[in-house]
Order: sequence, then C-alpha cells, then structure tokens
Amino acid sequence: MSHTPSRQDFDHYMAPNYSPQQVIPVRGEGSRLWDQEGREYIDFAGGIAVNSLGHCHPVLVNALRTQGEKLWHLSNVFTNEPALKLAKALVERTFADKVFLCSSGGEANEAALKLARRWAVDNHGEHKDKIISFYQSFHGRTFFTVSVGGQPKYSQGFGPVPGGILHATYNDLESVRKLVGDDTCAIMVEPMQGEGGIVSGTQAFLQGLRDLCDEHQALLIFDEVQTGVGRSGELYAYMNYGITPDILTSAKSLGGGFPVGAMLATDAVAKSLVIGTHGSTYGGNALASAVALAAVEFIDTPEVLEGVKKRHDLFREHLETINRKHGVFKEIRGMGLLMGAQMSDAFEGRAKDILPLAIEEGLMALIAGPNVLRMAPSLVIPEADIVEGMARLERAIERLVATE
Ligand SMILES: *Cc1c(COP(=O)(O)O)cnc(C)c1O
Repeated sequence: MSHTPSRQDFDHYMAPNYSPQQVIPVRGEGSRLWDQEGREYIDFAGGIAVNSLGHCHPVLVNALRTQGEKLWHLSNVFTNEPALKLAKALVERTFADKVFLCSSGGEANEAALKLARRWAVDNHGEHKDKIISFYQSFHGRTFFTVSVGGQPKYSQGFGPVPGGILHATYNDLESVRKLVGDDTCAIMVEPMQGEGGIVSGTQAFLQGLRDLCDEHQALLIFDEVQTGVGRSGELYAYMNYGITPDILTSAKSLGGGFPVGAMLATDAVAKSLVIGTHGSTYGGNALASAVALAAVEFIDTPEVLEGVKKRHDLFREHLETINRKHGVFKEIRGMGLLMGAQMSDAFEGRAKDILPLAIEEGLMALIAGPNVLRMAPSLVIPEADIVEGMARLERAIERLVATE
C-alpha cells in the first residue's frame, strides 16, 4: 500500500524553516480548494498573490499541456518561441524595451540590483554604488535582496552583509533626501509595500523618488513582484500613478502558479547586461514562458482589469460590514485585489490568530506582519465565492472576539 503523506512528515523530512497549517490541500478549482479529508476551502490567499487566475484555470492548464507535449527546456544556449513571445508581450505592454527572464521574484530583484550596479560602473564609475531602499520593504531571500530589504530579521545572522545599502522611511521623501547624492546608484521601492503591511506609496512620494533619481542620475527600480500583472487593477501598479521606473521586477501573478520571474528595463539601462554578466539555467524556460504568456494575455484585457476593480469594491464593502459589527479593524486598505485590514488597538498583533480559525471555518487568508490581515485572491474570483468567503471570515472573527 502506498504511503499517504501527512503533516507529521513535514516535521520528519522537511527543513524546519516553515510552519505550515495542519491541513494539506490536494486539489483546487477556481477559488476553491479541497484537503486530504475532502473538506472544502475558499481561497483568499491565492498562494500569496500568485494564483492570479485561481487554481487550474483552463487557459493556463491548456498552455501547460500544449507546451508540455512540445518542448520543456533548452537552457540559454538556445532561445525558444514561448520566451520570445513572452518578452515581446511584456515590452509591448509596458515602458520597457528589454526583458530578462528568471524563475522567481528574488532572482528578478537580484538581477535588477546587479544590473543597476553594473550600469553605474559603466556610465559613472565605481563610486556610484549606493542603493537606497525602505524600512519594512521586502525584496526576496537571496543575500543581496534580504540586505536591500528593510526587515533586518531576514538579513541578520548570516555574516557580513553586502555594503553600500541605505534605508529610508517609506512615504517620507525627506528621509530619502538626507541619503541621496551623486553616489546614489539606485532607489528600489515597492509602489505598494506588500509584506510590509499593504501600504500604498503616495503619488507625491513616488513622484518625488522619480525626481530625485533624475536629479542625481540614479535608477528608479519598482519591485512589482507582488503588485504586478493585474493585481492592482492595472497591468502594473506604476500605471495607476503614471510614474515610470527604469527597471521593474515581476513574478508571483506572472506565472499564475508556475515559477517564473522577469526583470524589465529600458534600453539605456539593459545594455549594460552584456554577454556573460548575468544568467540563469532555468530563466526563459519554455514551459514557464508559455504559461506566463497565457496569464499575461488573459489578464491584460479591459474585462479582467475592470473586474479586479469591481471585486476590490466588493471586498471593501464586506470588510467594512464585518467591522461595523465587530470593530476589529482600524483601517481597510490596498489596491485592486491586494488588500489589507489593519487590526484595531484592542486586537493589536492578533491578525495571525485569525488564520487557523479561518481554516476551521473553511477559508484561507494571509497576514502581512503581525497586525494586518491580508487578502490576495484570484483576479477572477466569482462573486459567490467572495460572499461565502466573507461569511466564513466573519465566523472566524466572531470566534476571535469571543476569546477576548
Ligand atoms: C514575494 C516578493 C518577492 C520575492 O519573490 P520570490 O518569488 O519569493 O523570490 C520580492 N519582492 C516582493 C515585493 C515580494 O512580494
């Protein structure tokens, strides 16, 4: 008889760097999931803003199956049709002229940071090496990206961190002005901080960063790994602001669940990434590119993007109704289908306590730090699933309130 894996197997066999929930989902369809016992869940977590079209969307399954029977992988010794189509689709839809493909958000940011440093050396000299980023920001788990990220808990305890990295306060332009200078190579910023608590950059702040970069001949890098590919209600969040970066990174929703990442850049910047400067065995993998192309083409339509904005309003209405009854939230915020509800003072730090209660009620949700309940569902989640998911969330919150 074959062994049925259990949650205990995680503790036996897996590195202990995660602490997953007790249930093991085995099947998904749209915004619903089923666990080993056949219990059904509504998915407001979306695999952390990844499952942009829910689970097993026919368009993505078809792209995977069709490419899967044709050609999976070549390495970058050859190029391939899906990668070329994906790069063309991204260039035609954005500010960018060139695309570097990889397999995750951290790798896209690693590429962006290395490119920025190389561009500065090529165009200005070795002294121009300072990278400014923001407290609470998250840019990935490679050593360069945790160091640039603004959450020291992710970079401490691994020995000396890379130098030339400075942190300013998000939405505080004055704090950036104090650090910026002619030795500034790049400013890396999330247009909306995701892991940092679902905090949107203000128009004035992001415009101010653009102006400072122009003034000091530094590059503006938008990390859109979490906000990109329809999540904000536009293809990329920068489009909501009308502020254009020099480099943009994308992953998460880009593959709808298939691991893929991309770094987008202008020609003037990308030309520093000459032969041999950077690479990835899997980057531009044919299977990943075929799925990402299908996701981008499906999502970047007026119907899907308008639908994200409508669903945002629906999420907000439901959360406000729950809050009028139970008073658990201080603020409900976010863009498109990346939303956060900050806990009220009486429930300070208790966002994480909602998650297991929600699981028991049949709902998957997320947190962003200890104090913010986060939702990043499928961009095409049916209205009926939103209504039912919110009923389940309300029951979880009633139980949280009852334990006070
Ligand atoms: C998730 C995330 C990353 C890291 O992406 P990985 O695919 O986990 O490497 C980087 N930046 C932001 C803003 C993210 O949300």
